Amino acid sequence: MEKIKMTTPLVEMDGDEMTRVLWKMIKDELLLPFVDLKTEYYDLGLEYRNETNDQVTVDSANATKKYGVAVKCATITPNAARMTEYNLKEMWKSPNGTIRAILDGTVFRAPIIVKGIEPYVSTWKKPITIARHAYGDVYKGTEMKIPGPGKAELVYTAEDGSETRELIHDFKGSGIIQGMHNLTSSIESFARSCFNFALDTKQDLWFATKDTISKKYDHTFKDIFQEIFDAEYAEKFKAAGIEYFYTLIDDAVARVIRSEGGYIWACKNYDGDVMSDMVATAFGSLSMMTSVLVSPEGNYEYEAAHGTVQRHYYKYLKGEKTSTNPIATIFAWTGALRKRGEMDQLPELMGFADKLEKACIDTIENGEMTNDLAIITKLPNPVVLNSEEFIKAIRKTLEASL
Ligand code: NAP
Ligand code: MG
Repeated sequence: MEKIKMTTPLVEMDGDEMTRVLWKMIKDELLLPFVDLKTEYYDLGLEYRNETNDQVTVDSANATKKYGVAVKCATITPNAARMTEYNLKEMWKSPNGTIRAILDGTVFRAPIIVKGIEPYVSTWKKPITIARHAYGDVYKGTEMKIPGPGKAELVYTAEDGSETRELIHDFKGSGIIQGMHNLTSSIESFARSCFNFALDTKQDLWFATKDTISKKYDHTFKDIFQEIFDAEYAEKFKAAGIEYFYTLIDDAVARVIRSEGGYIWACKNYDGDVMSDMVATAFGSLSMMTSVLVSPEGNYEYEAAHGTVQRHYYKYLKGEKTSTNPIATIFAWTGALRKRGEMDQLPELMGFADKLEKACIDTIENGEMTNDLAIITKLPNPVVLNSEEFIKAIRKTLEASL
């Protein structure tokens, strides 16, 4: 069989631990035999990040801007224990944080749905994608403990020295205060990323904040979304047959639970942090969650939502066969290949991505799966495979369909 051709490379960001092991298996078994794979390779494994003083992470993000599509393996975010384990020169920042800052993107997370792994919410039939704003609010907050009576104020000093003040509270006793901010430009990027992604995936977009209580802060988010929608997207949404609507966050939560899924739920930073864990858990498993970072210029970086699965890696190092689930990492690859195909008008490449995803789902629905799924599935008598056997089973299903 002739291999499927690519014209432009995509950016390949290799990673750490168990997911790095899976990365190679996925390429060897499921990609290289079928696709004439063109990638520009960046090794984001912690050793090489340390060797290059993390320059490789910056280079990989810039390459993503150049080529438009990247696929990333999970990576270690160093902490004190990793400093010793890897003998690091510095506690390097989270690669995802660095890449996000360079691409100025929004993260979209969606579950992969298969029969037999049922969501806890019985009405949910289609995926719910959470779009999380990744800048500001309490994540860039300043806090203070108020020891006793006194006045706390918000003060803005303009460049000409003039001051604007708002009373926060006239304290009669001790208490706490917090100051936080966001940027018009960042909220605008967030809005555009959400509208573009909705058009891309042909799904409705919901956005919710607490604007009835936060009449300036949250209300500004609501207004910016509405202004950009009316000026730039209303027509395109109509043509695509999809809808944008805004509602209060309380109402959104109630509607989400009653819905059947199949839409994008845009959330402010904190809401997205909390709700994405809720949605992921309610859909069944973190190992079945994909994630894509979309920049306002239309650059895409695909990855799995889970980490490097450290506990499995230590078993692997001892020579044990682990049953680590490769599905989210495979879907990171198919997402990137499909997007590459779309940008370069390569229907064969897009078709391959569809077939590989279907092979993954069919294999699980036929009862062959990794342990994390076997313990939650409703299917009778699931066959538990180790990662290597499972990837080989997917290959068999894929070959039958090609
Ligand atoms: P994790 O890698 O997501 O794994 C946490 C636990 O979830 C695992 O121990 C495993 O449970 C289960 N799990 C996750 N993915 C699985 C899969 N594909 N198949 C089967 N089980 C899976 O999180 P972590 O152990 O807290 O973090 C490990 C490293 O990953 C850290 O260094 C962290 O910095 C990094 N991390 C990276 C990213 C990223 O690059 N995007 C994201 C998060 C974390 P059992 O052990 O019970 O089987
Ligand atoms: Mg969280």
